Amino acid sequence: MKSIIETCTNNENLNMPIMIFGWIKKTRKLGSIIFLDVYDISGFVQVFVDEKNKFYNEIYSTPKETLVSIKGTLKNRKSINNEVPSGHVEIILESFNIISLSKNTPFLIQDETDGLEEIRLKYRYLDLRRSSMQKNIILRSNLIQNIREYLHRKEMIEIETPILTKPTVEGANGYMVPLKDNLFFSLAQSPQIYKQLLMVSGFMKYFQIAKCFRDENLRLDRQPEFTQLDIELSLVNEEYIFNFVEGLLKNVFLKTIGVDLKTPFRRMNFDDAMELYGNDKPNLGYGYEIFNCTRHFENNTIFSDLISKGKVFKAILVNDFLINNTDLKKIEKFAKDNGAKSLISCVFDKKIVDGSLEGKVDDQIIKNIFDENKFKSGTLFIDFNDGFTSNKILGAIRNATIDILKIEPEARFNFVWIVNWPLFEFSKEENRYVSVHHPFTSPVEEDSGKSTKDFHEARARSYDIVLNGFEIGGGSIRITNNEIQKKVFEVLKINEDTYKKEFGFLLEAFEYGVPPHGGIAIGLDRLLMLITNSNSIRDVIAFPKSSSGTDLMMNSPSKVTK
Ligand code: ASP
Repeated sequence: MKSIIETCTNNENLNMPIMIFGWIKKTRKLGSIIFLDVYDISGFVQVFVDEKNKFYNEIYSTPKETLVSIKGTLKNRKSINNEVPSGHVEIILESFNIISLSKNTPFLIQDETDGLEEIRLKYRYLDLRRSSMQKNIILRSNLIQNIREYLHRKEMIEIETPILTKPTVEGANGYMVPLKDNLFFSLAQSPQIYKQLLMVSGFMKYFQIAKCFRDENLRLDRQPEFTQLDIELSLVNEEYIFNFVEGLLKNVFLKTIGVDLKTPFRRMNFDDAMELYGNDKPNLGYGYEIFNCTRHFENNTIFSDLISKGKVFKAILVNDFLINNTDLKKIEKFAKDNGAKSLISCVFDKKIVDGSLEGKVDDQIIKNIFDENKFKSGTLFIDFNDGFTSNKILGAIRNATIDILKIEPEARFNFVWIVNWPLFEFSKEENRYVSVHHPFTSPVEEDSGKSTKDFHEARARSYDIVLNGFEIGGGSIRITNNEIQKKVFEVLKINEDTYKKEFGFLLEAFEYGVPPHGGIAIGLDRLLMLITNSNSIRDVIAFPKSSSGTDLMMNSPSKVTK
């Protein structure tokens, strides 16, 4: 069966009898004439119905979204619509058949729909009839095809790994699958261990488009089950992986959406990202870097004492933007919700306009900061806190300002590799060190010899890839030395009994000739969300879970009978 657009744009069909299948999109009566738009996934065509046609009344009363077959003659149209592929033709109706009648739909099946997200998710099969959703899903299919083609050309081997896997102490976010006798599988959070074992087997170049499952706090860019492009390579270093991923993304962006990415991507140390943007996934489509302006306040008697105890003044300037009072209030509220206690915001005329330090800071100081930095216009946010907290607060202000003012980025796609991560971070909730990435990440060579006492300070051979302020992937060079792996478990407070029980097979596998290896996983849903400029990851997944992690269409999770 040919699609509507294939049939109606084939010149050989002009002035010939044709037949199409599709859903009724729109019916309008103009005097004695009816125009009908009939659509399928390829697009729509206009059907012309004359008063004399014996189906005139019946077709007019057929509800929208009914599936019909239309027989008629394909003709050139008088008034051409250049916006759509079939805008130069129409079908003069001879007869039509109702194949399947539609009830009134719960929301409008069109790009600008009146349906709230909950109702769209409940009737997802109808939501997926909207052409904007179909475009996203088709783009997803194309992207995945292009990725596969590229990787196969690079002699990568596509291997499926299990979804039912082993629950571990490090898998707090795993979904458990109960079996009988109190035994459990856990759903794979990632193919990490399997792909490393495939390197021991000698496959050398692995990839998989893998479903992963994580029971984590949900956000607009997170789903309990998601798809990642998972890669592992033997005998490589970080440089090789950066090149490999840049080559892949350059190729598939060009093929899928016609965008030629500039490579190599920027690289930034984790520490610099935190210092300059207060964030480990900075959006480099914008400037607005955080800077230290403490010295301007050193002589101020209110602050000098606290400054000598280590508190600092840090600031960002949102240049060229005079933020109006309503937006300023929104940003300040956001900053306070993020822990800001001592905040000043000032506009370019060097007057303090608002904030909790109002009245305590001399206008002259603000003028000096503007002058020293050669700022001409803009809004300056200053925060007084310990350096780490200030960075986080100003980073949050930076993101909120970009969002609230809808500031255009310098480029459409802003990639950056974040490198030189710490291997561990201290978790207050768990009262122990946890891995920043995962426990199989190798420390940098200089730090692998550190004694157990100092090992928690080790730096990692890991990297994240960030696009427009979203982490779209991460990976590392892996530990292949069992002594180092044991030291990692020790810092993580996983005792010998536990790691032997849970990861003993991995340690044993590494005793049979393991090649050095490393890899990465790229979140395809998030990548697609950014490529399609969607508001939520849910708009690029055919059947996503709702914002609270449920399936509103099937009404699950649900209770089961005994
Ligand atoms: N397995 C890791 C993840 O899913 C990625 C990697 O290290 O390759 O985040």
